[in-house]
Amino acid sequence: MTTITLVQGDITRQSADAIVNAANSSLLGGGGVDGAIHRRGGPAILAECRALRASQYGKGLPTGQAVATTAGELDAHWVIHTVGPRYLSGEDRSDLLASCYREALRVADELGARTVAFPAVSAGIYGWPIEDAARIAVETVRAARTAVEEVRFVLFDDRAYEAFAAQVG
Ligand code: ADP
Repeated sequence: MTTITLVQGDITRQSADAIVNAANSSLLGGGGVDGAIHRRGGPAILAECRALRASQYGKGLPTGQAVATTAGELDAHWVIHTVGPRYLSGEDRSDLLASCYREALRVADELGARTVAFPAVSAGIYGWPIEDAARIAVETVRAARTAVEEVRFVLFDDRAYEAFAAQVG
């Protein structure tokens, strides 16, 4: 049974077995959560990301997939990088967003992680409306078959927190 908890704050300040990064497919850093994770986590994470690009993901990590690195100086064992879809009005890409949560939890299970902190994937620079992003996130985690005991959504601002709270009930 997975418990869903909500926290308002900065995901890089969390203590968890794994912290999920809303990465882009280059895996080489970016803005938002991605920038914050690399800034606070230090250069070890980026070095591992570069190695992943050189070995498994020459063309980048595809949207909806997830891959782990260690967590550098963060208070976690692993960072699980996942690439959310950009929001496109007129095209339903919800399954790709759901896939980010499913795949991140699958990787967490492979690692043996029991506590996993997620940001609101795709709800920042990638433009996903927060209410819809929250619904997909919570529904997907609830439906997942995983040994993860706590999924903690770490929401940066009031609006994101309220949107997730409305879904969790
Ligand atoms: P994406 O490119 O997938 O949209 P972003 O990092 O731009 O990813 O944003 C995803 C969500 O994370 C947004 O709701 C944004 O407000 C939030 N966010 C940004 N920085 C942080 C942080 N340090 N901790 C937690 N959430 C954050």
